[in-house]
Amino acid sequence: MTKTIFEKIIDRELPSNIIYEDDKCIAIEDIAPKAPVHILIIPKKPIQKFSDAKENDKALFGHLMMVVKQVAEQLDVQDAFNVVINNGEKAGQTVFHLHIHLLAGKNFADLFPG
Ligand code: AMP
Repeated sequence: MTKTIFEKIIDRELPSNIIYEDDKCIAIEDIAPKAPVHILIIPKKPIQKFSDAKENDKALFGHLMMVVKQVAEQLDVQDAFNVVINNGEKAGQTVFHLHIHLLAGKNFADLFPG
């Protein structure tokens, strides 16, 4: 099967700015940032999209969320950040390898008025 962009990045076949990595995931700078801080947290397991997650992916998903928190602290944006997962083409997903967007430095409050 053809590798996605993110699998190629994980396998070091494509360059990227890696800011965190462990045995389960990688965190890279988004190539076209939508906010001053825009990081993608990507599992090494090639799950195509969030809704494909299985019961036995629970621990992995928990880990990914803890990495989001850790990366936010690493970049000193822990007090104000947004987390986004685009699930499916109609929701704006363009790369079909699950990834979590960590965005900071821009106020997205208008998207979710209280
Ligand atoms: P999504 O639209 O949720 O699938 O998000 C895909 C994201 O991947 C977009 O924000 C793109 O800017 C980003 N992206 C695409 N190619 C690369 C790349 N080679 N390195 C880093 N980020 C990328």
